[in-house]
Amino acid sequence: MGSPVSIGLVAGCLVWIPVTIWIVALIGWMIQGEVDVLIGFCGLALGVGIGALAFVSRNQEIAPYLLFASISMLLIVPLIRAFANKRELAQMDVEQIEKGYDQLDEKPDNVGAKFRIAKMLYQRGAVEQAVAIADKALEGLPKAIFEDEHRTVRTWKRTIVNAKATQVTCLRCGASNKLGDLYCYRCQGPLMLFYARGSWVHPVIFRRVLIVWMAAMVSIVGIPLAAANLPAGKSTPAVFVLLMITVALGFLAFKGIGNTE
Ligand SMILES: [Zn+2]
Repeated sequence: MGSPVSIGLVAGCLVWIPVTIWIVALIGWMIQGEVDVLIGFCGLALGVGIGALAFVSRNQEIAPYLLFASISMLLIVPLIRAFANKRELAQMDVEQIEKGYDQLDEKPDNVGAKFRIAKMLYQRGAVEQAVAIADKALEGLPKAIFEDEHRTVRTWKRTIVNAKATQVTCLRCGASNKLGDLYCYRCQGPLMLFYARGSWVHPVIFRRVLIVWMAAMVSIVGIPLAAANLPAGKSTPAVFVLLMITVALGFLAFKGIGNTE
């Protein structure tokens, strides 16, 4: 028994530290309802799987890789949670825009609905779009009655540092629309709803992080595992297959770049 074996043994035991933290945290989140049951159980299975591999694997050289995998599992958790939280908030804001459009469906000249949309855009930093929509909504309306609205728009205008947006591209048909338009002139779609979905909610980024992590796990854990445990004749094709899976996952992760869906 040389020193690599004992290093492997130590790493094999250490694996259980991040795995235990992971399991305790996951169960806590599942009880609090922060993580849904399916994802929770998948995560638990993954943790237990990594921990069990560290014990079962006859080849102790694999243990450091498993240790690395389990630590990375812990590091990715706050990242995933931050993405999920941000996404949830964005989803709520998009719903406000949706509500505004629903109101406009019922009553196309509903100033309140237009302001609901404009306010959300303003809050999200699309100041110029917000001002343009609000200005257009107030066009020809008596100042005395819509005093508050006029004041709001004046305050918004003061926050524009340097105007740069001149048009809004429709995310459905690609047409360039004038700032302040609520519906696409070409496809008649709810222009600012497309805009909100496209620029506030980023499911692609969220998915990409997960896929890249999975790809890293396949190559960091799977490849040394296959190389160490399979007989020579089988390990080469197995490693090749795992490499292909990693490449495929990497391709999947970056395929969506530039896609706003
Ligand atoms: Zn369009």
